[in-house]
Amino acid sequence: MIDLIEILETNNFSPVEIIELLDDVTPNEIEEYALKHMVCRRCYSELVLHNWKEARGECRGIPAFEEVTECICSCCGAIYPED
Ligand SMILES: [Zn+2]
Repeated sequence: MIDLIEILETNNFSPVEIIELLDDVTPNEIEEYALKHMVCRRCYSELVLHNWKEARGECRGIPAFEEVTECICSCCGAIYPED
């Protein structure tokens, strides 16, 4: 498949414009692209990185935590990656 993203980038399209144009055409690629550029696919606002530690029970008597990373839209509150 021709890399449409690359063609649009070469023609000075912004990440938001590229996401708008290709969201229906190559949804999987656009999901990755939007995350890379921290853009919300729903409202095209900026995403904010959110890290926290989630409790995962105990491991040998020591509380275990898993580090979780999500991108949250500062405008509509959408969370990426989506479930
Ligand atoms: Zn949003």
